[in-house]
Amino acid sequence: MARTSTSLIYRIISLILLIFLYETIGEENLYHSSGGTASWVNTYKECGGKRQSPISLPSAAKAKAQEKFPKFERNNMYDSIPDFYKLTKNYHTIQMEPRFGSGDRPNFTGGPLHNTYILEQLHFHWAAEDEDGCEHSVDGRKASMEAHAVHFNSKYNNIGDALSKSDGLVVVAYFYNASDDVKNSAMDALTNSFAYIYGGKTNVTKKTKRFPISKLIPEIHHGYLTYPGSLTTPPCSESVTWIVYETPIPISHKNIGRFREFYKINPYLKNNFRPLQELNDRVIIGRP
Ligand SMILES: [Zn+2]
Repeated sequence: MARTSTSLIYRIISLILLIFLYETIGEENLYHSSGGTASWVNTYKECGGKRQSPISLPSAAKAKAQEKFPKFERNNMYDSIPDFYKLTKNYHTIQMEPRFGSGDRPNFTGGPLHNTYILEQLHFHWAAEDEDGCEHSVDGRKASMEAHAVHFNSKYNNIGDALSKSDGLVVVAYFYNASDDVKNSAMDALTNSFAYIYGGKTNVTKKTKRFPISKLIPEIHHGYLTYPGSLTTPPCSESVTWIVYETPIPISHKNIGRFREFYKINPYLKNNFRPLQELNDRVIIGRP
């Protein structure tokens, strides 16, 4: 009896400690808690692994390993207009998910991939300055914003199941560079819809104006780098095959300014990128 109550007390203390640890990282403090991103490992062990992202990349032409992978093959859902986008603001990014009444979803394969991967969501990383904001660097330089198209392997039921598998996820990364005189009507439509989610605290969901997701994430068959890595936010799961396009897409100062405005309602959304991680013994393959 005494033994049972002692173990119960231990379990309660452990639970309180776990809750305390979670609170000290606290989602709202993701990038600016004491210790910042380096403290993630205290709560999420995988964040201290050997296969972490983002990393410093060479250009595709300068990568030591190069391969002429086959073309990517997308289904037609990337070019179809969704019934709506589920738009979400959380403590570390703005996220959009295309939703189709038919239940169909965009998926792709080809390039370095051996399976078909289903698009789950698209989200963004940015900074207060034009010369920063991307998570990955190429040839030592960073563009102003990085979009992540998160896909999961179709052989798993959902992204939750895929998260713990080494071949579970593919994230396709696009860079955006702030410039003037840029026209991008899809980006205009997305940032115009931000008005719905500036208010409120978290996880606000609204419909945006409709356009095909390929207007934001075009299909490009070369000029990319691929390597094995991780999610760049906790739990830092080491299940990601990265495909990173090296040439930035222009974005207007007006549009990138609308991403930066989120910092007025959440100071932690000022610089929502993780610092570069160690390459360790990984091989980066370039597809010039
Ligand atoms: Zn991301």
